[in-house]
Amino acid sequence: MISEFDIIRRYFSRPTASAVLGVGDDCALLQPSPGMLLAATTDMLVAGRHFPEGTDAGTLGHKSLAVNLSDLAAMGARPRWALLALALPEADEGWLAAFADGFYRLAGDHAIELIGGDTTRGPLTVSITVIGEVPANAALRRDAALAGDDIWLSGATGQAALALEHLAGRAALPDGDFSACLARLQTPVPRVGLGLHLRGLARSAIDVSDGLLADLTHVLEASSTGAEIWYESIPRSGALASCRDADLAMRCVLSGGDDYELLFTAPLSRRAAIEALSAEIGLPLTRIGAIVAGPPAAVVRDAQGKALLIASKGYDHFA
Ligand code: ADP
Ligand code: MG
Repeated sequence: MISEFDIIRRYFSRPTASAVLGVGDDCALLQPSPGMLLAATTDMLVAGRHFPEGTDAGTLGHKSLAVNLSDLAAMGARPRWALLALALPEADEGWLAAFADGFYRLAGDHAIELIGGDTTRGPLTVSITVIGEVPANAALRRDAALAGDDIWLSGATGQAALALEHLAGRAALPDGDFSACLARLQTPVPRVGLGLHLRGLARSAIDVSDGLLADLTHVLEASSTGAEIWYESIPRSGALASCRDADLAMRCVLSGGDDYELLFTAPLSRRAAIEALSAEIGLPLTRIGAIVAGPPAAVVRDAQGKALLIASKGYDHFA
């Protein structure tokens, strides 16, 4: 049987070039870059709650880091370091090797180093802390939206939720559509590059993890503003473009969650620059509404301007 320390040595001790001291001592030692603020965030994924028991280990290694990188992206921060707290029901080396590969592949894409963590026996849980850097005046905070700002969305929402609807038997997708939606659910691509480009362009940003409306509402509450969203302007990609169940499509696009796109606001003067950025990085950036003065709630309007009734804004673990 492999020991706790063998697990750490074999699977989670790849060399760290930028940390002063990485895995192996009581703490890692880090030297922040001059003039930078540290941006730190944690996200925990629990088996049976955030992913089904039996989820592919490599997929889980990717996703558990991706959801954390998405938070750094939404702050405009450059990822630097990660800590990994892992509770495992058993020490399965095949599982560990695949998990570590999924984790390190995405870490390598973003030059992020695993510098420490904790390993214990328990119900399968992955809790990752990431640390990034952002110039003091460039962080994309939730409380900075202003009435008059455009509201922008990267990529498209709803496909991850549509995969879940299919798995729950509430939607029936053709095989090709299902695998595309499942890929969005299992291996989301954190918008780290976009977040860096949005420094100085966007006024506020959030990543869409719990549902477009739920996460927009966090911005509205923090900024004490309202919003108008034009439903028909929200992009529909893949299976959602051809979905004929209008209620299902609306639920997925507006309230689905697990999208890891960036929702951001910017002054009108930035429109041309944001459109140019979209072309430059090859990622659709779509204007879906506007920040308005008023109570912190989003009004969603159809093409005729009629306000739509929305049953649920998104996911809440304790609702
Ligand atoms: P401590 O007893 O001080 O908590 P541990 O024995 O838990 O230390 O960990 C030993 C070293 O291995 C520490 O540097 C810790 O950060 C690191 N570590 C433990 N688990 C992991 C993991 N899953 N991934 C990366 N580093 C880990
Ligand atoms: Mg420990």
